Amino acid sequence: MGNPKGFIEVERKVSGNRPVRERVDDYGEVEQVLDDQDRRLQASRCMDCGIPYCHWACPVGSKIPEWQDALYKGDYGLASQILHSTNSFPEFTGRVCPAPCEKSCVLAIHNEAVTIRENEASTVEKAFELGLVIPRIPKIRTGKKVAVIGSGPSGLSVADRLNQAGHSVCVFERDDALGGLLRYGIPDFKLNKKVVDRRIHLFEAEGIEFRTNVSVGETISGKELLQQYDAVVLAIGAMKPRDLAVEGRELAGVYFAMEYLKQQNKVNRGVTFNGERINAAGKRVLVIGGGDTGSDCVGTANRQRAEWVGQLEILPRPPEKRQPGNPWPYWANVLKTSSSHEEGCERMWSLSTRRFIGEKGRLTGVEVQ
Ligand code: SF4
Repeated sequence: MGNPKGFIEVERKVSGNRPVRERVDDYGEVEQVLDDQDRRLQASRCMDCGIPYCHWACPVGSKIPEWQDALYKGDYGLASQILHSTNSFPEFTGRVCPAPCEKSCVLAIHNEAVTIRENEASTVEKAFELGLVIPRIPKIRTGKKVAVIGSGPSGLSVADRLNQAGHSVCVFERDDALGGLLRYGIPDFKLNKKVVDRRIHLFEAEGIEFRTNVSVGETISGKELLQQYDAVVLAIGAMKPRDLAVEGRELAGVYFAMEYLKQQNKVNRGVTFNGERINAAGKRVLVIGGGDTGSDCVGTANRQRAEWVGQLEILPRPPEKRQPGNPWPYWANVLKTSSSHEEGCERMWSLSTRRFIGEKGRLTGVEVQ
């Protein structure tokens, strides 16, 4: 712990987002970056608690106090090494993780949490900039072959771990590009796809083989895979959407979030797609569902120049602050305003969809209750 008084002397400072007027004109990442000195000062706010809860809350068990200390001291190599010891791609989580670690930060009991997520993204970006993130070629090979089906975050992570353990890994992806939700789910304004490509190139250099446009069960059978590989990992994600069984669901103009987000990501990538172009330009758009995916649809509709964007949430509006029944260190059920909401969105609470109304087979309205 480099600065035992950091949490007293330094206030939380977030990097903030690009101005709304500027960012809605493009699909570039909205979040800005702090300079190196400010970032290291932010890391100095970590108290290196006797019993830290941040890594208890982190889904990948990140050793947060350890790499905050290394970051504060400017040892980017060590900070990056500690980050990578539990996380195959901290540059992704540092951008898009909801950061439960910060909700469980001990400092957050009476003060504002350490900017853990931003510190994570900055650490790994600095490490890349300094040439400290280089391919780690496994020294031994076990002779075992593993097929991983699906190249989303779980498929990539398991492929990395198995490859580092010395197994020969091949990842199968049915889409035309690698990354799953990282590639075609999360909008570019939250995760630039060059960041995804950079990590995949690193994995390739480390020996992982990737095959796109291969649909297991169609292009190659499961039986063939089992004959060719010692083990098969299913990391196919959950692409089946939850439908709304209400009147008018079949009307044109009602889409699943993934149809919409995936298509815009494909357009940004400059690749062709099948079917109708879904474009919100000049339209009144209602997003049903108040979570992060809904928020991504809000941001996409605003960039497409929708006339109006609203978002329905079935639950009541959350409180601004933690309530007595929702104590630290648990996830805080408080109002979250995303960068997409800031760009323009009418948020509506405690409402559900009763039916879709249409004319000549096309949606014209939604009845809610
Ligand atoms: S931002 Fe997410 S991945 Fe990173 S330390 Fe926090 S909980 Fe873990």
